[in-house]
Amino acid sequence: MRSRQLLCLTFLVALLTGCSAGSTGGVSVLSQSPAPTSATAPEQPPSSPPVATPVLPARVVVIDPGHNGGNAAAPDEINRPVPDGNGGTKPCNTVGTSTNAGYAEHAFNWAVALAVRDLLTAQGVEVVLTRSDDVGVGPCVDQRAAVADQAAAAAFVSIHADGSAPGNRGFHVITSNLDPAGSDIGAASDALAVAVRDEMTSVLSASNYIGSDGLNARDDLAGLNLNLRPAIYLECGNMRDATDAALLTSGSGQAAIAAAVAAGVLRLLG
Ligand code: ZN
Repeated sequence: MRSRQLLCLTFLVALLTGCSAGSTGGVSVLSQSPAPTSATAPEQPPSSPPVATPVLPARVVVIDPGHNGGNAAAPDEINRPVPDGNGGTKPCNTVGTSTNAGYAEHAFNWAVALAVRDLLTAQGVEVVLTRSDDVGVGPCVDQRAAVADQAAAAAFVSIHADGSAPGNRGFHVITSNLDPAGSDIGAASDALAVAVRDEMTSVLSASNYIGSDGLNARDDLAGLNLNLRPAIYLECGNMRDATDAALLTSGSGQAAIAAAVAAGVLRLLG
């Protein structure tokens, strides 16, 4: 009887301490913290598991806000010739255009680029901007292209707005027809252009004055000719047309353009 009482007492203690059988349901309890020894003891909240960092493939996208706010005051610096990637040279950088009311293209490019960056970053994409603010000078177009190569970027998108005649309306996406990094990268550039074009058509119509169906291949843009990654220039609209300018200068228009660019890039990245 005495040994049976001891066994029962041991069993009772084991029940209360949660250390009954060494295992429950196949899961060892030896490594677990003891359960509360009193029914009235506050239950310990389970410790929070560490937040898992999502493991994503390395995806780097370079967003290039065209021009810069300090270019106009630094003509010697931005007029310095640099290689154009087609056997010649062209100026390091240019001032860009503006609306008739004086809203500068560089400011538009900067605003859209930041919005695209935020949208892509929220999707786990690492974004590199080719300039860090909107008050500096440059960088030169060849340097902007080099940023894409140095980052091994999955995509390079240069943000611009055009300065054409009133009545010329709509966006267009430019690629280099020189395929500077070979046909595979060239095909990826074309796919990026189509993806961004398709998304942009929900914001405004494709250009009625240049290219075809919103696409235009050229051989005179150093930022594309020297680019060794899938690369496009996006002319988001014509700042000199009043209807386009109304969209380009509005916060909602800039947000819609940024969303289209980000969606196009994400489509390419899969
Ligand atoms: Zn521009």
